[in-house]
Amino acid sequence: MGNERPLTMNIRPGEPPPDLKGYERAGGYTAVRKALRDMTPKGVTALVKDSNLRGRGGAGFPTGLKWSFVPMGEEAPRPKYFIANADEMEPGTFKDRLLLEGNPHQLIEGMIVGSYAIEAEVAYIFLRWEYREAERLLTKAIAEAYAGGYLGRNILGSDYHLELHVHISAGRYMCGEETGLLNALEGKRATPRYKPPHPVISGLWGKPTVVNNVETLCNIPHIVNNGVEWFKGLSDTRDSGTKLYGVSGRVRRPGVWELPMGTTIGALLEEHAGGMRDGFRFHGLLPGGASTDFLTEAHLNVKMDFESVSKAGSRMGTGTMIILDDRTCPVGFVGNLEAFFAQESCGWCTPCREGLPWTAKILQALEEGSGQAGDLERLALHTKFLGPGLTFCPLAPGAMEPLGSALKYFREDFERHIRERRCPWR
Ligand code: SF4
Repeated sequence: MGNERPLTMNIRPGEPPPDLKGYERAGGYTAVRKALRDMTPKGVTALVKDSNLRGRGGAGFPTGLKWSFVPMGEEAPRPKYFIANADEMEPGTFKDRLLLEGNPHQLIEGMIVGSYAIEAEVAYIFLRWEYREAERLLTKAIAEAYAGGYLGRNILGSDYHLELHVHISAGRYMCGEETGLLNALEGKRATPRYKPPHPVISGLWGKPTVVNNVETLCNIPHIVNNGVEWFKGLSDTRDSGTKLYGVSGRVRRPGVWELPMGTTIGALLEEHAGGMRDGFRFHGLLPGGASTDFLTEAHLNVKMDFESVSKAGSRMGTGTMIILDDRTCPVGFVGNLEAFFAQESCGWCTPCREGLPWTAKILQALEEGSGQAGDLERLALHTKFLGPGLTFCPLAPGAMEPLGSALKYFREDFERHIRERRCPWR
């Protein structure tokens, strides 16, 4: 049976990742053998669907269900493409980096099995521009996988062929949005595309394409090797498997850990991150990256799974928490985030292109002591007009999540900035 921490069991931080021989010795590439020898492509998809693996990139869409939408059989348009989204640019998120640098063969194996499931002939790893060490390690591992017969023509003697390439992102946040990524890969401006058609029907160069997050794909070999019941048993909640959770901020041990899905926020903060550093008190947190709603002390017992965090009024997102402490100004903290989102807006639709810089400007004025009566109402209005369904893609609604929830939970802190005509934290 598999390990209870399957994704990280062969990762030794500070040491080089396993090479091909080391990966094979640890049981690597048995899932590729099993899938090609014993399973049909549709059988692989059915297994992943039954496992209830949900996407780990933020949206939580069921992976097997996504694969099942791809046209199959002789009549299906070709070539089909399979893409690992490794453009990890969400502020505060650094979990995929651990997998990319710690065990690149695991991702490659997950991609081969996923590509086989949808009968893709070409696959890409779309990599964050700054992840140069990951690029080096992936390039080496891909060459080893070709030499070992796991990539290229007639993989392991089968009639299945797959090419795998690494593509380096141009370095903008929008390149990580699924359809912006497709445009970027085609060499175009990375604006999002209208959906439908969804990429599974018409994606890269108009052909069926699956885009999955790195952590999602690293689960695939283990599900194929160990089965659905084992995978479900790893979790403490309805969502299956383990999760890479991270904590950053003024805690004793910032980091990333593989834990049962559904580990509580409090356990992550106290047991794994070691609690707050001396002299700092907990004030709030963003549970899953910069584009999620704040939660507070009242939510420390919430399980970190898709449904529980959603019921608490936020989103699990990437599962990597950013902690706000009592010595950091919430207005400045949110202003920093909105400045980031304003800079990263692709400029395609008016509410986002104009609205985000405006919110950043108001927040900066509050910080500098020149906030005015009515500013908080203006900010609240933005959270409505840039909300879900009112912009072309989720960037702007995501940017409004920390702002709207900060206005709710830290309102008095905002009001003090106007009343005292200064930032009380300075
Ligand atoms: S919401 Fe922002 S990032 Fe998304 S399409 Fe509109 S301008 Fe571009």
